[in-house]
Amino acid sequence: MTTIDIASAACTVLAPGDDGWDEARGTFNLLDDQRPELIALPRDTAEVVEAVALARRAGLRVAAQGTGHGASSRDTLAGALLVNTSRMLDVEIDHAERRVRVGAAAKWEHVAPMLSERGLAGLHGSSLDVGIAGYSMGGGIGWLTRRHGLQTNAVRAIELVTAEGEVVRADAEHHDDLFWALRGGGGNFGVVTAIEFDVVAVPELTAGSFFFPVDRTADVLRTWTRLLPTFPEELTTWVTVIHFPPTPEIPEVVRGRSFAIVMAAHLGSEAEARRLLRPLEALGPSMDTLGMQEPIALGTLAMDPESPLPYRSTTALVDDLPDATIDAVAELAGTGGSLAMLQIRHIGGAFGRRPADAGARATLPGEILVFGLGVPMDAESGAAVARGLAALDDVLAPHLVGEYPNFVEHPVDASRFFDDATWARLRAVKATWDPGDRVLGNHHVPPAAAHAAA
Ligand SMILES: Cc1cc2nc3c(=O)[nH]c(=O)nc-3n(C[C@H](O)[C@H](O)[C@H](O)COP(=O)(O)OP(=O)(O)OC[C@H]3O[C@@H](n4cnc5c(N)ncnc54)[C@H](O)[C@@H]3O)c2cc1C
Repeated sequence: MTTIDIASAACTVLAPGDDGWDEARGTFNLLDDQRPELIALPRDTAEVVEAVALARRAGLRVAAQGTGHGASSRDTLAGALLVNTSRMLDVEIDHAERRVRVGAAAKWEHVAPMLSERGLAGLHGSSLDVGIAGYSMGGGIGWLTRRHGLQTNAVRAIELVTAEGEVVRADAEHHDDLFWALRGGGGNFGVVTAIEFDVVAVPELTAGSFFFPVDRTADVLRTWTRLLPTFPEELTTWVTVIHFPPTPEIPEVVRGRSFAIVMAAHLGSEAEARRLLRPLEALGPSMDTLGMQEPIALGTLAMDPESPLPYRSTTALVDDLPDATIDAVAELAGTGGSLAMLQIRHIGGAFGRRPADAGARATLPGEILVFGLGVPMDAESGAAVARGLAALDDVLAPHLVGEYPNFVEHPVDASRFFDDATWARLRAVKATWDPGDRVLGNHHVPPAAAHAAA
């Protein structure tokens, strides 16, 4: 590597061993062990320009991260400078226009409470701890997607520093090729400094869960899958099998216990939600928390982990879960030996509707999304988790219709997420804006071959 004077950079830059190095390279998945050459910690766009220039001088590629929630799907950071944007947390909310502008590292938790106070919500996912940047550029799906579509379709502008160090605003009027690619093509086109997006009104919300003992999983899933065709887009339901650890931070009522939980969010009255869910209620949940809520309740409904943990996961978009598949899934999820959590989300509705001005990832196929997660604590449990996840893949394979990139948490050939025309266009846009392939996004898009670096 070229020797480079990092002290002269007009931006905080860390080298291995510096104070703060391990925190700055950290990720949500404790199994990730990112080892970039340098880490820049810019506070604003000018400092991002400095960081990109420093990388160029040092002959390093550039990778960006806000929260580290999506780091597992990126290739090695050897030979790269990591731009850790965690200091770029500006938030501006225009309630009247229902428009939000955030800095590169803002999380949903930085906007959702203020929106909720005014009866508004962003199209966030299951956890408010997730960063808006990576979530939005990879798609972004949550409780409101069946009704309002993917978050990436709500994005109105993205500002970034390109591989050449140029500050660019991409929106419907400026650089429409780049704007198209950023909405689904991920962080492959530069270091994003700000994002603007629309949010939605939530005048009425019913949310909550029915908890069942884990040995009822197959019954619950059978009843649930039969009901799905009857559910309007205003109702989103997930079935989550969770084995809560016996640790003190877990609420006592569920600590150390295992449940099959029907989680529901309904953009309407409680009476109507209960009418739609009646066959599930008739199964006799041991706990029922369904009730009228403020929009902020959608940020905790799924009970996602809030602190980093070691995990491996798998995912699938499927068109159906027939009874035999349900039995196999329930068996795998129920034992708790390998899968700590299995989440089965109803999708459909606006997941499948492409807006006229959409980007590279406007829709997702299928009726159901499955996400399984195991927590390896040692070699033995690691092997059990690997076996459990592989078995889940096998069970779902006959029904597979696609994969959702933000849930694929290991490096893969990203062409599998797109049809041929979209992939070719993404690579062409990459060749225009980063012909030397200096920007390393998660789920990497290489530049079109004719332009690629030798
Ligand atoms: C607990 C948990 C719950 C989740 N729930 C959901 C959910 O319900 N729905 C859903 O859709 N997804 C969900 N996800 C997946 C999440 O959307 C992805 O992990 C996403 O990549 C996280 O984005 P981030 O910015 O927080 O993460 P980061 O790791 O900071 O970023 C992820 C990637 O985005 C790109 N990126 C980030 N910042 C920049 C930048 N400034 N410039 C250029 N590129 C950048 C980079 O390629 C980076 O590798 C969840 C993840 C976790 C861990």
